Amino acid sequence: MIQARASPPPGGTVFQLLSSRFQELFRRLRGEGRIQERHIVQGMREMRRALLEADVHIRVVQTFLEAVERRLREERLEASWNPAGRWAAIAQAEMVRLLSAGEGPFRLDAGGPAAILLVGLQGAGKTATAAKLGRILRRGGRSPLLVPADTRRPAAREQLRRLAERAGVGFHDPGEGAVDPVAVCRAALADSRAGSGRVAVIDTAGRLHVDSALMEELQAIRDVARPDEVLFVADAMTGQDAVNSARAFCEAVGITGVVLAKLDGDARGGAALSIVAATGVPIRFFGTGEGVDDLEPFHPERMASRILGQGDLQGLAEKVESAVEAAPADPFDLEGVRRQLQRLRGAGPLQRLLEMLPAGIRPPDLSVSGDRAREALAILDSMTETERRRPEILNGSRRLRVARGSGVPIQTVNQFLRQFARARRVLPGLSPGKLPGFRTRAGRGTR
Ligand code: GDP
Ligand code: MG
Repeated sequence: MIQARASPPPGGTVFQLLSSRFQELFRRLRGEGRIQERHIVQGMREMRRALLEADVHIRVVQTFLEAVERRLREERLEASWNPAGRWAAIAQAEMVRLLSAGEGPFRLDAGGPAAILLVGLQGAGKTATAAKLGRILRRGGRSPLLVPADTRRPAAREQLRRLAERAGVGFHDPGEGAVDPVAVCRAALADSRAGSGRVAVIDTAGRLHVDSALMEELQAIRDVARPDEVLFVADAMTGQDAVNSARAFCEAVGITGVVLAKLDGDARGGAALSIVAATGVPIRFFGTGEGVDDLEPFHPERMASRILGQGDLQGLAEKVESAVEAAPADPFDLEGVRRQLQRLRGAGPLQRLLEMLPAGIRPPDLSVSGDRAREALAILDSMTETERRRPEILNGSRRLRVARGSGVPIQTVNQFLRQFARARRVLPGLSPGKLPGFRTRAGRGTR
């Protein structure tokens, strides 16, 4: 029940609570040297408490812990030279098993689905997910078409239209008078199946509670659209209710995968771990925010690493890579710095990126670095483009104006400019002042 829950840590993010509990346990075990029976008993008890606190279903907790304990004993951990490491590895392997279902990853390429049906309760995040999914599919080289099959509310259609625009993907306009979701889908699919690489992403209506009228409507849509994938969008914030509704949709419509929306909003998120066990279908994606780019493919291994505080280096590398790839050559002036910072922010809040690092090398105060970047952007945004291109014209009065505009002390502006000047000096080959017309970014220089 909602009232009984411990309040999540501020700025709750994916499984933060669970991961900090596990980290604590492993750190303590590392300090123990030799492991004895009492450590195992105590450790298993702590894992149980952490999982239950994170809202993982009791039966799932039971299965998981039994498997972990069996292997701990089989391996005779008392005799191991690195018992904490082995314990973490065993927990990791069992967590992966818990999070895995079905076979193979979700294919985004031409061999992937031609129609995806999104189902779920009202407010779960279907419409937002449709747009986010459109983005991911487009990046995979497909041309998505978002289909508004939620005809009960005109506002729903407009929401999807706006999001499609923001995401830069296609939208099927059913016209003002369209009231029959089945007819909308039929028309949209005739349109969509015509082109190669097309994929229809069908957004449907929800209800506050599971009801039979909704299920009948979804069945009718499914029979016409014949979707390759039926994704159940679960609101991770609703806890165990999400497990129950997942089961209901699974029985009535048949689902092939799960999208966990709002995993950013709830540090516990444990219900998510139970959905796989309840439905036997894989989690395909998870939502981490309201923006159109806040959806990530779900990988059991990576998520298990995150949950156990081991970090997600693979995911981090991919995020940074995609941010850098998208980068055109920047001039080495403040305009370039600003663009770099904005792109980095586009890769996700710094905080979230840093969380993908293993606990050991993660900066202890995540918010500091994020604040720094925000401060720098505020300063840069308070300059004119000319000032950013030719920082040398920033005299005392201009600096004062920038400080006022960005809400930081003048010293901070001065310090920022000094740092930039120093960076430019140590990278002379990149300074447009020294090499006229030299406009490229670090790494491709001619030094
Ligand atoms: P629908 O009724 O299932 O279509 O739900 P919506 O897509 O309209 O989403 C309901 C609300 O949840 C909207 O305000 C969304 O912006 C928000 N939302 C959806 N997914 C996420 C997510 O992953 N994280 C956060 N923080 N908000 C989300
Ligand atoms: Mg909706």
